This record gives sequence, C-alpha cells and structure tokens, in this order.
Amino acid sequence: MSDGRALAREFLEQQKLLGGDWVIVSDHLTPGTPGLRPGLVETPNTVSLTPGASPGNTQTRPAREVSDLPPAGLSYDPPGGDLFSNDPVPQAGSLDAIAGLVNGCTKCRLCEGRRHAVPGEGAADARLVVVGEGPGRVEDETGRPFVGRAGELLTKILAAIELPREQVFICNVVKCRPPENRVPQYDEIAACVPYLFRQIEMVKPAVILAMGGTAAQTLLNTKQSLGALRNQVHRLRGIPVIVTYHPAALLRNPNWKKPTWDDVRIARQLLDR
Ligand code: URA
Ligand code: SF4
Repeated sequence: MSDGRALAREFLEQQKLLGGDWVIVSDHLTPGTPGLRPGLVETPNTVSLTPGASPGNTQTRPAREVSDLPPAGLSYDPPGGDLFSNDPVPQAGSLDAIAGLVNGCTKCRLCEGRRHAVPGEGAADARLVVVGEGPGRVEDETGRPFVGRAGELLTKILAAIELPREQVFICNVVKCRPPENRVPQYDEIAACVPYLFRQIEMVKPAVILAMGGTAAQTLLNTKQSLGALRNQVHRLRGIPVIVTYHPAALLRNPNWKKPTWDDVRIARQLLDR
C-alpha cells in the first residue's frame, strides 16, 4: 500500500480494534480528513501521527510517562542448569539446538497426540519474548506458534506497538498441543519448562510478555491470578515481565482488549528505556 492516508486509516482501525483509547492526529490529518472515519479520531493522547509521517514511522506516545510504570511485582530466579548433570536442555547452545530437542521430546504425555511439536520461532536477538500457553490446532498442524486466530490477533497487537512479528521471539509454556486445547497440567508444565527457560536464557530479551494465566504463573512461579499479576512489573532473572490477557481470551471477551492494550504499551515503554 503506497497511499499514506490508507496506511493511517489502517493504523487507526487497528487502534480501535485493540480498544486503544485516544488518538491525536496532527494538523496534516485532522478529523474529517477524507479517508479517516471521524469516529476513530478522538482527542487526548496516546498515539500521535507526526506531520507528514506515514504510519510506517508513526511515533507511539505512551499515555503514561516512564515514571508512571506500575510498581514492582514478583521476582523469580528459577534454578539455573546444573553444570555437572548431563541433561542436554540447559546445555543446548542455540535456539535451533533447543528446537531439535523439543522436536524429539517424549518427556510428557503430550507427545502422544501431537502432529508437530511447536518449539517457538522468531529472532534469536529479539528484545521481546512473548510466551503463550501451548499450541492449538493450527499450531500443531504447522509446527509454528501463534498462527491460528489468536495468533493473528497477537500479530496485530505486536504491530500496534511497532514490533513486527519477525523481530520478536514467540513461544509457549508447553511445546505440544494439549488434547482439546485443555489447560496444560502441572506435570506437563514441569516437564516442558526447562525448554522455555533455556530459550529465554539464549535470547536474553529486554522484556518478556506473558500472555494468559498459564504463562504468567509459570514464569513467575506463583498461583496468583492473572488479575492480581497485571499492572506490575515482575522480574524473571532480572528481566522485566509484563502480564496480560491471552489473545484467545480477547477473542472471547473484547472488553479485555483495552486493558491488554494498556499492558503492551507498558512493555513498549520498557523496551524504549
Ligand atoms: N495459543 C497459545 O497459547 N499458543 C499458541 O501458539 C497458539 C494459541
Ligand atoms: Fe516434551 Fe514439552 Fe512436548 Fe511434553 S509438551 S512432550 S515436555 S516438548
């Protein structure tokens, strides 16, 4: 798409989809500008389109300043790998090596029903790691994380904070699909989580986004509810962890889009520091 205005419209529609609240449009793109639906343009600020900018270089202006970041939450230092064990997971030397181990893994019952394991994908030097719960049907069919409907929404959420999906590392707590997409059981998570911790160790992201209760509780080693964990900056081995709703939950309950949008903006602020 070459038309800047069409891009701007797409961007604003995306804000609306995500429940984003206020949008400032510069003099160049005032309400009523042909091509912008008036209902999409409101006053105070979160997002401003700089004069003459195409949405490709649109500046996101977080509503809250960095000093308004939410307070510190739980901090968790999971045990590191044991140098003297011969467990290959903590010793895997690359994301590909971890993926190789995952693809051959039979450590829990979830291996029985899988078509493909879904190790995760994305940039090895990603500044953001996104963690979901576990593969769904399309992920199991393709071996790729977040490619079904929830994945499409995740891709939009990431685009809205100007993070192309390819720049992020996306993975799940369990790497094989639970039957009927049930919540992974405690022993399945325990068997699988070393892969996740090793992936985080390899990528060394600046921020981790935990999507949904399973990801949040696993990463922070807590049973606290998602609601209790949101709105705080947690830490995993010193890396800030932001907790938000799972995109599949947003598809069921659009009222959660606005809070999710607030959460990912906090992640964006942390990345911008
Ligand atoms: N839901 C998840 O938690 N992960 C995926 O990869 C897809 C849907
Ligand atoms: Fe292995 Fe994890 Fe798959 Fe279980 S879910 S078989 S631990 S990769």
